[in-house]
Amino acid sequence: MNIRLPEQFIYTYRGPNNCAYVQNGILYIEGSLHYEDLMYNLAYKLHGYNTCYYCGKSLFQNNRTLDHIYPRSWGGVSLPDNLCPACKNCNNRKTDMTLYQFKRYLDLHSSEEKQQFYLDCVKKNKKIIEKQDFILPSDWVTLYDASTLINLIPFKYLDPTKLKKLENYYNYYKHFPHPIVVSSNGWLFKGKHILYHARKINNPIIPAIVLENVIVIKNTS
Ligand SMILES: [Zn+2]
Repeated sequence: MNIRLPEQFIYTYRGPNNCAYVQNGILYIEGSLHYEDLMYNLAYKLHGYNTCYYCGKSLFQNNRTLDHIYPRSWGGVSLPDNLCPACKNCNNRKTDMTLYQFKRYLDLHSSEEKQQFYLDCVKKNKKIIEKQDFILPSDWVTLYDASTLINLIPFKYLDPTKLKKLENYYNYYKHFPHPIVVSSNGWLFKGKHILYHARKINNPIIPAIVLENVIVIKNTS
């Protein structure tokens, strides 16, 4: 997928050697940087800092958050297309609901109705997850041959607790909790634990979000 990008954007992380910038509709990344932080910065640049996407209230330092439009619990990863500024109150209330569900939730009047609607949504979403992979737009996700990735995964940095959790999830649902995220030239941003498990079970063809308008320029220094 092509992620939404601002026309102009420059981001640096721990010194000028690690940077990202937009040029002619492409996001170039040089050196190594913090993926989530980069995506949050892109989202704020696109959507602004000042208004809650859901209720329209003004945002200040003490109530400003970024919400995952498709929740993390249903496979939503951090992309500028999946992040919007939201007040703490909306973010807390939306939790595991999708955008469409949350809009309906906001239209309900009594707190009992709201509570029941929320529980129904979670139940419904769980059922969908049991049947298919993720609650994400289908054109975001493709099947990807992970053996073509260019950056080697530093497996020594894997978190054993995370791995165990992932393994349990996979054994239960028979798929991964979210797609991996890679650049157009095969650089892995998200999903090293998934990749490790995929290799372990000898299945390198895994769901991925390929960022077609993002190119990683390898830092050789
Ligand atoms: Zn709000």
